[in-house]
Amino acid sequence: MSTGTHGAGDDVARDGLERVPAPSGREQLRDAARVVVKVGSSSLTTPDGHLDPERLRALVDVLAERRAAGQQVVLVSSGAIAAGIGPLGLPTRPRDLATQQAAASVGQGLLVAHYTRAFAAHGLRVAQVLLTAEDTVRRGHYRNAHRALTRLLDLGVVPVINENDAVATDEIRFGDNDRLAALVSHLVRADALVLLTDVDALYTGPPSREGSVRVARVDGPGDVEGVDVSSRGSAVGTGGMVTKLESVSIATQSGTPVLLTSAVRAGEAFAGADVGTWFAPTGRRTSVRLLWLAHAARTRGRLVLDEGAVRAVVERRTSLLPAGVTASEGEFEAGDPVELVGPDGAVVARGLVAYDAGEVPALLGRSTSALRDDLGPGYDRELVHRDDLVLVRRRRAAR
Ligand code: GLU
Repeated sequence: MSTGTHGAGDDVARDGLERVPAPSGREQLRDAARVVVKVGSSSLTTPDGHLDPERLRALVDVLAERRAAGQQVVLVSSGAIAAGIGPLGLPTRPRDLATQQAAASVGQGLLVAHYTRAFAAHGLRVAQVLLTAEDTVRRGHYRNAHRALTRLLDLGVVPVINENDAVATDEIRFGDNDRLAALVSHLVRADALVLLTDVDALYTGPPSREGSVRVARVDGPGDVEGVDVSSRGSAVGTGGMVTKLESVSIATQSGTPVLLTSAVRAGEAFAGADVGTWFAPTGRRTSVRLLWLAHAARTRGRLVLDEGAVRAVVERRTSLLPAGVTASEGEFEAGDPVELVGPDGAVVARGLVAYDAGEVPALLGRSTSALRDDLGPGYDRELVHRDDLVLVRRRRAAR
């Protein structure tokens, strides 16, 4: 187990990052200088799916207390669709994607208006920031988002982030504000991430099942093996415990501890009380691009490696050269994320490919010097550079 937390290292640095001895457990949250708080639709809505301003206000009261205690707060909030249902005269949450996007577009402004009013009652200002997971990693976007968010925090503003639903629908479809929140935690160098949901903790089984008990602390993936998280999220939100745990693993693997609890227990949790589930960091800060590649990127194709290339990539951590690749699948462009699979089809790594799919067949199995001689300089480069490659330890469920 690691109880270290990250220092303010440069984002792209891979080694030698400062590791500060940290107190173990929940006091880390109480003492954090900067926290990212993610709240799901289900924690902000009435049972019939409409936005509940009372619940929103109760959450804001807790967050305003944190600000008063000197903590910087970044809020990642869903609830735009819920806020759009009433004004559009829809009976319930729409099912089709286009209407969900429309409702989110109508609701987002209203959602932020509620936050603006509720925080203003505490003398605090908010800023709306709409992001997609890819914004947290594409170089220019990442820098812009980092600069804007840091400045907002310096100015004492509470950024309220949601997915940009008109152009990206990952949250609507996969509950991915959970993962977005983990990536944002990395982007703003948060000291802790708080995931607020409609259950007060991770339980060993469905919370309603007799015999399920709260998991108070998790020190690594081994501690959640055997925990049954299959029951889906609420009817209102889109996430569920599976996406929560994905978010947790992105955050903890890059050095950020996570507290998972319900919105109603948030106040106690921030005070350091033994509520919810505390996930200790398991790794240390890494490049956000590689973090995205490992956890968030949707791959656009596959490269099939021969045994020698698998060994070179996995054991010797080399770049992937065209000579070791036997086939390529998918319609990717240079720079897209692809899976690297062994001869048996098992995924061994993910990487950003350096060529368009159409160029790859002519390169396969050929040495870089032959390619340079035949096709010219520029064709002697790696198919996937080692800096653009992450090894896959465990295969993620396909989407
Ligand atoms: N980002 C959307 C929202 O804020 C989607 C959330 C959801 O699916 O509930 O409403």
